[in-house]
Amino acid sequence: MSPTTSKFLPSCIPSEITKNIASESFHYIKTSPIDGSLVAEFFGASQDLVEKVCEQSAVAQKRWQQVPIPKRQALLIDLYDELLANRSSLVESIQLEVGKIREEAEGEIQEALDMILFCIGLTRTLEGKIFPSERMNHFMFERWLPVGVCGVITAFNFPVAVWAWNAMLAITCGNSVVWKPSELTPLTSYLVSVACDKVCKKHGFEGLLTTIFGGKETGSYLVRSDIPRLISATGSVNMGREVNKACADKFKKVILELGGNNAVIIHEDANLDQALKAVYFGIVGTAGQRCTSIRRLIIHASVFDEFLGKLADLLAKTTIGDPRLGETKMGPLISEEAAKKFEDAVSVCKSHAEIVSGGKRLELYGVRTYVQPTLVKVLEYFDLINHETFAPLVYLFRYSSLDEAISLNNRVPQGLSSAIFTNDLKTGFKFLENSDCGLANVNTSTSGAEIGLAFGGEKDTGGGREAGSDCWKFYMRRQSCVINWSGTLPLAQDIKFFD
Ligand code: NAD
Repeated sequence: MSPTTSKFLPSCIPSEITKNIASESFHYIKTSPIDGSLVAEFFGASQDLVEKVCEQSAVAQKRWQQVPIPKRQALLIDLYDELLANRSSLVESIQLEVGKIREEAEGEIQEALDMILFCIGLTRTLEGKIFPSERMNHFMFERWLPVGVCGVITAFNFPVAVWAWNAMLAITCGNSVVWKPSELTPLTSYLVSVACDKVCKKHGFEGLLTTIFGGKETGSYLVRSDIPRLISATGSVNMGREVNKACADKFKKVILELGGNNAVIIHEDANLDQALKAVYFGIVGTAGQRCTSIRRLIIHASVFDEFLGKLADLLAKTTIGDPRLGETKMGPLISEEAAKKFEDAVSVCKSHAEIVSGGKRLELYGVRTYVQPTLVKVLEYFDLINHETFAPLVYLFRYSSLDEAISLNNRVPQGLSSAIFTNDLKTGFKFLENSDCGLANVNTSTSGAEIGLAFGGEKDTGGGREAGSDCWKFYMRRQSCVINWSGTLPLAQDIKFFD
């Protein structure tokens, strides 16, 4: 199936339920940021519908939990095959809706597929620990059980990969998932949901992976429903604050993956050619719309002018345009609203900083969603630097000592990704030791994570962790168990209670 203009209602839901869609007021029209062409038209799910989908999900979860963990891989394998079979449609859809160039859209699908493979392996390795007991002939251990229904809310910039990070871990752990994708990526989410429907139905687990379409309102119905016991939300810091408060009220587990404000330090002994490539990708990749995109460059005074000159030359040569054309390196921003925010940020910068490269919003193919990658030399620290502008806008700082550079790295409220370029081991380790971010790299960009590690950030980025390592634990509840096989009743702490 190739992405075409489509009008649709939420999938995975029996027709008697879809009749209950009452939210005619939440009517969305999605146009492509590439040229403004119509992609999809849809209605946001009402509270009633969200509740019904959650109920259906809870029923599926109870049955799914009974499937032995290694046996769950059969469904994962089929889902892998289904996504692989639809890879080109998904890639085209991501390009059309998000504006990514082909390599990056392909990379996103690869990431989702990798995540499924990781989870297939996990079905054989989910483990619990045994602990020594102070009481004779007592066996103490921890086991992990599913939390139940997981609500997953995702951002526009990684419509498939972030779904996979969450949903694949969640079902591997025995949960079901109700997914509320971004209102800005309905077609891609729809294609994913069709694949899920097909596979879940084949395995007799309809309702295991469901999708509810809509915006903020639909997302908040999901968060406020009593049924999901875990909410994983990816998006802006403001969204995370609202979701966090609503979850706290109901003591739900919450995984927050929020905005970043990522810095790269270019140390005096850095390999500048290596750093240049990494920084270029970190600025231009996904048109600066990755949570890990570079927002700040902290450059040692001794290499500042040389590095800046090379970077500005490279950025000026960037081919901006339709991401489906082979020569394009940077597509549009997600919407005209996003491009307006970039424009507003650039005009604020003019009062406190010097625009050294780019700075303009462009009109191409009849839409004003395109912007130039922009470098801004900071003359005095100003408030906007502390906020994430979701566009290729980068603040430049000059430093003299490593301590100063690290303190600039840590100065913002967010704590997602950070990097240093250096050829000195001590400098690299000192940076890792002191960066306050969830991700810290030496000699590679802030952008471009592998799924094997836990992904996430500290401070205003929300503290959540997703994808590899032991992130599966977030999607489970821990049970501490004691089995007394002594035939008597010794009490802990040697309490003598009985005569
Ligand atoms: P957004 O906050 O506008 O929306 C994200 C999702 O949250 C959407 O599905 C939206 O409908 C939903 N939503 C918004 N308000 C809500 C509410 N009150 N209750 C429930 N749901 C709500 O973000 P966006 O513009 O789609 O994405 C860009 C942002 O996402 C950036 O800040 C970026 O850094 C961040 N992001 C973070 C990560 C990460 O892993 N840390 C990954 C990708 C994107």
